[in-house]
Amino acid sequence: MTGSIVLFGPPGAGKGTQAGRIVELTGKPQVSTGDMLRAAVKLGSPMGMAAKEFMDAGLLVPDEVIIGLIQERLQEDDAKQGVLFDGFPRTIPQAESLDKIATVSSVISIEVPDDAIVERIVGRRMDSETGDIYHVKFNPAPAEISDRLIQRPDDTEETVRSRLEAYHAQTAPLADWYSERGLLIKIDGNASINKVGDSVEAAVSRIL
Ligand code: AMP
Repeated sequence: MTGSIVLFGPPGAGKGTQAGRIVELTGKPQVSTGDMLRAAVKLGSPMGMAAKEFMDAGLLVPDEVIIGLIQERLQEDDAKQGVLFDGFPRTIPQAESLDKIATVSSVISIEVPDDAIVERIVGRRMDSETGDIYHVKFNPAPAEISDRLIQRPDDTEETVRSRLEAYHAQTAPLADWYSERGLLIKIDGNASINKVGDSVEAAVSRIL
């Protein structure tokens, strides 16, 4: 299938975890604006430093910055047959800009209620070497890598509440926007990683 897939859902829905499966099934590269922003923060670029203020406060980074990042990324060779967007678009203006530069073939929406999200995010840990995601309770990391685990600075309870607020105000309306275009596939994300993975696989096999 040519065209891009959008992985949609609230923060902590498991988009990053499930993205790996979709990449394996489709061969499309994962394009995560959150990962791109964190890389810019790590580099200490002016854009990264400006973005960090928004990220640490649980706010969305301005649309112009995000759209610029995506325009650049889509010019790379591996993006020619479409990509898997993870965490993008997050506003209607971002979706409108995306429409002008790429074809979205489907939007997989992972649905998780707010109360489950806080527990998920606060317990989330990342392997600082590989970027693999674990959870202290639901998906513990192997003991031998425990000293490499870090918590994202925006994964505190206070910031999660702001991120959820931003999600409901600015991102959730996109579900209707894509549904009106006949592109939205809803998945119950309030289940084990494997169960959600099976639903994701079923959705992907329907669109391939
Ligand atoms: P994520 O890793 O996708 O949860 O993103 C982490 C943070 O990066 C978000 O809370 C936002 O501050 C910022 N961010 C990531 N993607 C976007 C986007 N598409 N639009 C605006 N801000 C974003």
